[in-house]
Amino acid sequence: MSNSSLVNYTKLSPHIRSRGGNRTTKISPHHMAGNLTVEACGNVFQGSRVASAHYGIGTDGRVGNYADEIHRTITSSSVSNDNVAVTIEVANDGGESTNWHISDKALAKLIDLCVDICQRNDIPELIYTGDSRGNLTHHNMFAATTCPGPYLQSKMPYIADEVNKRLGIISLPDKNGCPYGTSVALVKNGSVGTHVKICQWYLTQLGYSVGVIDGECGNKTVAGITNFQRAKGLVADGICGVQTWTALESALDNTKEDEDMTDEKFAELMNKYRDSLRDNDSGTWSEEARRWAIDTELFVGSGATASGDPNYMWEDLLTREQAATLMYRLARLLGKA
Ligand SMILES: [Zn+2]
Repeated sequence: MSNSSLVNYTKLSPHIRSRGGNRTTKISPHHMAGNLTVEACGNVFQGSRVASAHYGIGTDGRVGNYADEIHRTITSSSVSNDNVAVTIEVANDGGESTNWHISDKALAKLIDLCVDICQRNDIPELIYTGDSRGNLTHHNMFAATTCPGPYLQSKMPYIADEVNKRLGIISLPDKNGCPYGTSVALVKNGSVGTHVKICQWYLTQLGYSVGVIDGECGNKTVAGITNFQRAKGLVADGICGVQTWTALESALDNTKEDEDMTDEKFAELMNKYRDSLRDNDSGTWSEEARRWAIDTELFVGSGATASGDPNYMWEDLLTREQAATLMYRLARLLGKA
C-alpha cells in the first residue's frame, strides 16, 4: 500500500498502530478546529497526545502526510473504523461561528485526495449514507464531537458525488424523473446507498419486484436485477453495472414515450399517415377496375393533384358512409335504386 503522490510535506507521527490485517475500504475526513498549516498539524501529531491522521490539508490546499497508509491511525474514536479508514484532517479558515468553514482550495484538494485514495486502494465508489454503514465516514458517527464541523459534514454528499464522477460512476439522464437522483454506481448483493434506491425504483417502475425501496441490495433486489437482465438478453448475474444501468434507463424511457401519447398526438399521427395514402398512387393490377369505377361514376375524384388530375385517393381507407354511397351508386347503375 503506497501513500498519495499529492503530498507536499511529510512528518511521520509516532502514534500509529497495526491495521490488524484489514484492507482500506473507507475514508474519514476530520476538521482541525483551527487554521493550522500542514507543518503545524504535523507538529501536533509529534506531541504526547496519542493522536494522528494519515493526511492533513491546509487552507492553502497543501497536503501533509503524517502516517503511512499501511498503518492504522488514532483519529476517529473507533478502532473498527480506523482499522479500515484513511483519515484526513482539514484546516478551518473560519471558526465555530462559520460552522467550521473550510476553504474552497482545501475542499477541492480533499476531493482530489479521496479520488487518489480510492484508485490506489481499489475502492470502487465512495458511499455516503449519513451513518457508519457507508464508506465515507466522519468522527461524530463514533463519538460525541462536533468534528468534522457542520460545514464539512454538509459537503459529504457533494464530496461523494464528485469523487464518484471522477471514478467513472455513471450519471443517468434525468428525463425519467427518478425521485432519488441520477448519480449511480455498481449495485450488487450487499450494496447500500442512494444508487441502490435508484436501481430499486427503476426496477419497480418497470414492473420487477424488489420488495421495499430501502437502498439495501439483498436477495429480492438481486432477483429483480437478474429477471430484468434475463428479459433484456443481458448477462444475468444480478449485478447492475454500466450495461444494466443503460438498459434500465432506456427501458423506462421507452415506457415513458408510450405514456406520453395523447389523443391529440395520436390524431396528428393518424392524419399524417392518411395524408400519405391520399397521393393518388395506385397499383397497376387494379387499373381496369379503377377505370370502370371512374367511367361509371362509382368513384368521384375529390380535390386535385399537383398535375391537375382529380385525386381519387386510391389507397385511403373507406368509411361506412362512403361504402353505403358506393353501393347506392352501384344499385342505381343496375336499376335497383
Ligand atoms: Zn475528528
